[in-house]
Amino acid sequence: MTSLRHPRRVAIIGGGPRGLWAVEELIERARIPLDVTVFDPYPAGAGAVYRPQQPPQWRLNVNCAIVTTAHDNFNSWRARRGEDTADAFPPRAQVGQFLADTWSAALNRAPASVRVRHLPHRVSEVRADGDGFMVDSAPFDEVLVCTGHDHLHSGALIHKPSRVPVTGLYFGADLPSAPRRIGVRGAALSFIDVCLLYGDTAETIYPVSRSGRFLEVKPAPDTPLPEVPERWRQACARVSTAADLREILIAAAGEFGEFPTADLAAVIDGQDFTCDAVAELEASLRAAEGTGPLTPAAAVGAAFRGVFQECVDWHKAHGPMPGFRELSRTLERVAFGPPPVTARRLLELIHAGVVNTQFLRAPEQIDTWREEGGVDVLIDATVAPQAIPSPFHDVPGVVEIGRMNELSLPGHDSLNRSVHDDIPRWAEKVGNP
Ligand SMILES: Cc1cc2nc3c(=O)[nH]c(=O)nc-3n(C[C@H](O)[C@H](O)[C@H](O)COP(=O)(O)OP(=O)(O)OC[C@H]3O[C@@H](n4cnc5c(N)ncnc54)[C@H](O)[C@@H]3O)c2cc1C
Repeated sequence: MTSLRHPRRVAIIGGGPRGLWAVEELIERARIPLDVTVFDPYPAGAGAVYRPQQPPQWRLNVNCAIVTTAHDNFNSWRARRGEDTADAFPPRAQVGQFLADTWSAALNRAPASVRVRHLPHRVSEVRADGDGFMVDSAPFDEVLVCTGHDHLHSGALIHKPSRVPVTGLYFGADLPSAPRRIGVRGAALSFIDVCLLYGDTAETIYPVSRSGRFLEVKPAPDTPLPEVPERWRQACARVSTAADLREILIAAAGEFGEFPTADLAAVIDGQDFTCDAVAELEASLRAAEGTGPLTPAAAVGAAFRGVFQECVDWHKAHGPMPGFRELSRTLERVAFGPPPVTARRLLELIHAGVVNTQFLRAPEQIDTWREEGGVDVLIDATVAPQAIPSPFHDVPGVVEIGRMNELSLPGHDSLNRSVHDDIPRWAEKVGNP
């Protein structure tokens, strides 16, 4: 335990966007001397997800207009560098360079009383020690854990025996350079990353999923967007359960076009599958680009995105909303899908015969490949289930912020600093006790 005359020692485990945000908030708010150590084996600020060294084909899935930091934003940064600012869904590597630059700028801005350093090290142990903590045998007074997604969760395919090579897609994955036939577990955003990585070289890429469907495409930035009227947003504050919210979504989506209520309800209940995933993706892309009519799924997606902040506020005020988690499972598919640019590439690959959807709705095919072969590599493109606690969650006094405790309310677009306020609240408590 340090006295107020000595710097308070703060450990931040995880130096991705949230770790960076925590550092920026501490620099702004600290009224006492602080000695801050950020642990992350990946570049500070960018972290693992936005590391600048990743393949340039992998793109941001959210409009980059939301990428802001304490004193800068991504679009101004790339304009200053003379780079193209028209691309709303740029490479994640480029966003990572911005976040890494933001980290350096924050360190330059820090007053002498706030010392910040990055240790490129993966923490393996945190334990309580008197009034403070030991982090891999170094003493600290405060510990913030923002380790993001769990990547090596117990359900990952790499833990299962297989005749064909099995790999994850991202961190530390052992990816072959040009496999001909690729089986993929998953048909969502990470599956699209597989297509972007291997689309030019593979002979066949087979997506396999439980739902048999692709995600709905996000609207292009220049497509006129239907806005959820204020009265529906306000009505969200008065709901008691997700069943009430469901009615609001149906009513709000109903104002975006002449949709039968039953069609909107079917989308929300996940009962709207036509059994033609490719035709659905094509219709979704046309709606997203404004070249085709809004579909009921696109209308419900727009309604959910339109009231998402109100859902966050509701959870903040009342705790978990009964039934919300189940409701949001189907809504995530329609509201938080790929941008048009990557959906278009997926469709090109489908039409060229490179992406073959014959096993799209046959989850048992994964076991067939594992047991009998038939592909050159099997890529697990699924993400860990929500809210897997970090290995340090049961140490009393450790604060965890991020995916690992987003159980009832998924923190979509977590690059967006305007949705949640737990990082500034934590920094205020630590820097200004
Ligand atoms: C492949 C992928 C693509 C995504 N694309 C988008 C997108 O386009 N838009 C969007 O809004 N969201 C996206 N997300 C969601 C993403 O989680 C958030 O954008 C953002 O990365 C969350 O920031 P974070 O700092 O909480 O977690 P992360 O960015 O995951 O950072 C956590 C950091 O903790 C480090 N770490 C973990 N364990 C330890 C340890 N024991 N010791 C030290 N360090 C450790 C990791 O190396 C990592 O750098 C994506 C997620 C993934 C996995």
